[in-house]
Amino acid sequence: MDLGIKGRRGLVCAASRGLGLGCARALAEAGVDLVINARGKEALMAAAEAIRSDFGVSVTVVAADVTMSEGRAEVLEAAGDVDILVTNAGGPPPGMWHDWQREDFIAALDANMLTPIALMTALVPGMMERGWGRVVNITSQSVKAPIAVLGLSNSARAGLTGYVAGTARQVAGKGVTINNLLPGIHATDRADALDKAAAESQGITLDEARARHVATIPAGRYGTPDEFGAACAFLCSRHAGYIVGQNILLDGGAINVTI
Ligand code: NAD
Repeated sequence: MDLGIKGRRGLVCAASRGLGLGCARALAEAGVDLVINARGKEALMAAAEAIRSDFGVSVTVVAADVTMSEGRAEVLEAAGDVDILVTNAGGPPPGMWHDWQREDFIAALDANMLTPIALMTALVPGMMERGWGRVVNITSQSVKAPIAVLGLSNSARAGLTGYVAGTARQVAGKGVTINNLLPGIHATDRADALDKAAAESQGITLDEARARHVATIPAGRYGTPDEFGAACAFLCSRHAGYIVGQNILLDGGAINVTI
């Protein structure tokens, strides 16, 4: 399918690996010129070079922490008038509900709620003026069903979800859609880190922790960054203009709900 976005410009945050990289690669395959961001320069440059050589689009890199105001300013300056915004950042650390203090919540809210909101606040007005735009926020399955050890994520992402629900409906009339993609478990470094933490806390091997995790997923496997990226590129496509303010779960059926 021609996604109808060849020649558009997109910003993908936290995109040197994992789900952000999956989204960047799928957008590049559709012909989108990119600005990509991550904290580590080396991995980011390598990701950009691979995208250029595989898909022939232009890729600008910004090595910066997008959750800090200076880093975000650098990212926004490079982004300019983008048509597509994919927000993403690392997820909060695991723990239990009694572990967290105010500062832990502030850090999680900054990274996973206030950063995507700041990026939308900066970039959506230009999209509205130009009459076309797409925003996809990478959130989590924890929005639909809480994950016990990820209370910081449960909280911060719920806040972002509420914001998007209200905002998406105020900008849709100008041709701008905002939606959230909710990853279930995908085979990335983040999933490895969570499996390692589970193995340690349960006194089992990493393989055993992973096998127990996979057993909770009807699809019988973890998702891949490529299939996550393909869903993102479709939401950013010309064809997705009537999908507004939705929370789309990509979890292999793990969350057992009817709708
Ligand atoms: P990952 O650890 O594989 O990759 C994270 C990427 O983000 C890297 O490119 C890293 O450099 C970049 N990054 C992290 N913090 C950053 C920051 N402050 N500024 C700029 N770049 C930053 O993670 P992932 O699995 O791709 O997860 C992406 C998001 O999706 C996270 O918020 C994670 O919590 C969430 N999520 C992931 C899963 C999963 O199974 N992988 C499930 C649910 C939610």
